[in-house]
Amino acid sequence: MSRDEWQCPASELAMKQFDVASAKLNLDPNVAARLRRPGRAMIVSVPTRMDDGRVHVFTGYRVQHNDVLGPFKGGVRYHPEVSLGEVSALAMWMTWKCSLVGLPLGGAKGGVACDPAELSRNELQSLTRRYTAEILNFIGPEVDVPAPDMGTNEQVMAWIMDTYSQHKGHAVPEVVTGKPVAIGGTHGRREATGRGVVYMITEAANYLGIGITGCTAVVQGFGNVGSVVTQELARLGVTVIGVSDRTGGYFDAKGLPVEKLLEVADKNHSLEGCTYGEMITNEELLELKCDILVPAALEMQITEENAGRLQCRILAEGANGPTDLDADSILAQKNVFVIPDILANAGGVVVSYFEWVQDLQNFFWTEDEVNKKLRDILTKAFHEVLNLSLKEDVGMRSVALMIGIKRVATAMLWRSLYA
Ligand code: NAD
Repeated sequence: MSRDEWQCPASELAMKQFDVASAKLNLDPNVAARLRRPGRAMIVSVPTRMDDGRVHVFTGYRVQHNDVLGPFKGGVRYHPEVSLGEVSALAMWMTWKCSLVGLPLGGAKGGVACDPAELSRNELQSLTRRYTAEILNFIGPEVDVPAPDMGTNEQVMAWIMDTYSQHKGHAVPEVVTGKPVAIGGTHGRREATGRGVVYMITEAANYLGIGITGCTAVVQGFGNVGSVVTQELARLGVTVIGVSDRTGGYFDAKGLPVEKLLEVADKNHSLEGCTYGEMITNEELLELKCDILVPAALEMQITEENAGRLQCRILAEGANGPTDLDADSILAQKNVFVIPDILANAGGVVVSYFEWVQDLQNFFWTEDEVNKKLRDILTKAFHEVLNLSLKEDVGMRSVALMIGIKRVATAMLWRSLYA
């Protein structure tokens, strides 16, 4: 395999972030050398019978970065741009995220390069079952537990769980999280990432002395994360003035009708055909004047090129890797309060952990219990990062990475090297 296959903007960003944080930590160079690379990376062919009888061979990936703290954990992404480099970056971020919020889990990520919007239900099911079969020997409740990410949902998780269970000869709900409640999913998982983002925004607003009610917000991406963030912010009395998805952006300075947007998205599986507000581009959306900006779509949306034009007070990263390293210093100069991805969107993996624990115990919790435990874990992590950031005068992102990396490095040194 050529080195180029590992390289993409997201993997370069993940490496640069790691290098900066590990230098600040004075990390043992032997540990750093190992943590720069994933433990294992798989590329699989996923032959799928299409509705017209043709067989199309998709490319799938599963990258397992580090499992020193516990089984690998990470989502599965279906998107045309999925690559080995992108999945590797996302896997590395999962390691730091699980560690930062204190979960006994490692980091992994998977994906298939495909456009789920172009596939029929049958094609999506065939692709998912074959992808699962190809990685079956490398996943499992004690080994590696997949979950949803962009382009996948609870139905895809149900097919993964069923395929794995058919091969084992009995039901194994704990092999995957983010599945429907009817087959061992947990209450509150679908909303967990977006809800967690809003818990973190609330903590940031309190710290900054901004009353959340009456704030304005802009959300990029209107899928699992973005739509829940929008709904939860509106519930708190925030005026949502801009939203977008892959079909474009919608803006109304007086506030968009959130419930109506949710109805459109539910019916059309996107915001296409939305008649509310004025249509703008995704680029224009990010530059709207607002109190709270939430990127909840793809990586590398905020760069050196546009960071100077952002006009928000709080940037809460629902997406993974939406801001590049050069943009970080520009945002710091502009005094934007950044809630970094590995903290802001950690609610998803926290409730995935709760789901795994409930499945292993065969004992299920109420949604109130889930939400309370989620809020406690995230709030504790937020204040740990904020306090250290103030004490050391280092940005929130670097501190979050430093805490995450340090716990993993400490565990590695205790366990030492098997040779
Ligand atoms: P999703 O597939 O449910 O939704 C993605 C949304 O982004 C859709 O509305 C899509 O139209 C939009 N989008 C795609 N390309 C776009 C573009 N170029 N410009 C603007 N919008 C675009 O995915 P999701 O699960 O909501 O994930 C969104 C982000 O959140 C990803 O970065 C993902 O890694 C991250 N994340 C998700 C979870 C989770 O639990 N689902 C957890 C942590 C982090």
